Amino acid sequence: MSEDIATFDYLIVGGGMVADAAARGIRERDTAGTIGILSADSDEPYTRPALSKKLWTDPDFTWDQVPLNTVADTGAELRVDTLVTRIDRFGRTVETADGGVVGYRRLLLATGSAPRTIPAPDGDDRVLAFRSAEDYRRLRELAARGGRILVVGGGYIGTEIAAALAQNGVDTELIFPDATLGASQFPPALAERYQAMFTDGGVQLVPGRRVEEIRAEGNVLHAVLDDGEERVADAVVVGLGADPVVGLAADAELALDDGVLVDEHLITSDRSIWAAGDIAAYPDPILGRTRVEHVDNANEMGEAVGRSMAGEETPYTHTPYFYSQVFGTRWEAVGTVDATKDPLTVDLGDDRAVVYYRDETGAPIGVLLWNVADARDRARAVLVDRETSEQALRDRIR
Ligand SMILES: Cc1cc2nc3c(=O)[nH]c(=O)nc-3n(C[C@H](O)[C@H](O)[C@H](O)COP(=O)(O)OP(=O)(O)OC[C@H]3O[C@@H](n4cnc5c(N)ncnc54)[C@H](O)[C@@H]3O)c2cc1C
Repeated sequence: MSEDIATFDYLIVGGGMVADAAARGIRERDTAGTIGILSADSDEPYTRPALSKKLWTDPDFTWDQVPLNTVADTGAELRVDTLVTRIDRFGRTVETADGGVVGYRRLLLATGSAPRTIPAPDGDDRVLAFRSAEDYRRLRELAARGGRILVVGGGYIGTEIAAALAQNGVDTELIFPDATLGASQFPPALAERYQAMFTDGGVQLVPGRRVEEIRAEGNVLHAVLDDGEERVADAVVVGLGADPVVGLAADAELALDDGVLVDEHLITSDRSIWAAGDIAAYPDPILGRTRVEHVDNANEMGEAVGRSMAGEETPYTHTPYFYSQVFGTRWEAVGTVDATKDPLTVDLGDDRAVVYYRDETGAPIGVLLWNVADARDRARAVLVDRETSEQALRDRIR
């Protein structure tokens, strides 16, 4: 390796939630090793879930609470606006889009996910796939203009953004493929309740439709639906899910299967390279090999990967939960949330419910906690025990 190349003891590619947690995990075991973070983002690592929730709904929650203070707390050297384009596993270096080369002793891939898009006019900044702090700032500007905003997709991002916009007085329309909002995740009665929150909250709903393309005509955007109808808007937010960013790992010929394959120490098929967060397909002790695109996973796996890089030998065993929050209703879940998986709903009253999703043997494979706090560990235990008796399941979380 050439002498004049900066080389870090720990080099992290990606400057998101895992990068922050990993730098903290490294520091738990190694207070002296150098940490470098190369991030394509323009901002330092920040709390991503706030972009679609608290920043819109909690007036006491301001921008200064969003950054994670990674550099100040860990002493990492952060280079923003720095896209890594190639890994040289044999030279133990990475190359960046601006022609730079950075060396590593141990490398972490934490490149997260990229939002899916639909055909739209090139470079039209009134159409955005919502992922980053820059997208948040842009949407704030668009919302302040006072026109109509169309949100595409009924998943987490689509629903949270539609709720956030409507709660800020924006004329908001939400287009989604399910017949009832949430119907592919929740049992029918719960989906009805979920949908009612949006209609009561002022969101106009267009169910049962997909958007095929966005076109611009003068100052107006047209969303072309799968039945040929066109809906007009001043701006469009696309929330169609995201795909793991695994191109670097694929080009470096690391083992992949859905995401970057890692072992219980979060090490890839190259012993000098770790992967974590949205991109990592890891062996979960309860769920089996899986990949999770959620924040509890990013935080817990992030800290664990940092410790692992710094020599910790304890295997990673955390089974993550995930959550969403709209119009004051919060749901959390562990495992599979899929309305086709024989859901058993236990209504606890006061708009609280537990749903058990089951496989063909009747064993639970997922637990949804609807406005039920402090029950994640019990939900994990339900998945471990694989109890098939319906009555026994009903009594597990009250
Ligand atoms: C708006 C929003 C709201 C969310 N809300 C929730 C929620 O309520 N509940 C929940 O459980 N989860 C939520 N999530 C998911 C959660 O935020 C992610 O799972 C988490 O951020 C994943 O962390 P990560 O570090 O793997 O990826 P990210 O945080 O996405 O970070 C990836 C980083 O890698 C960088 N990068 C990518 N490629 C390169 C490259 N080649 N070179 C350099 N840098 C690169 C990116 O710029 C980015 O900085 C939300 C996500 C979004 C976008």
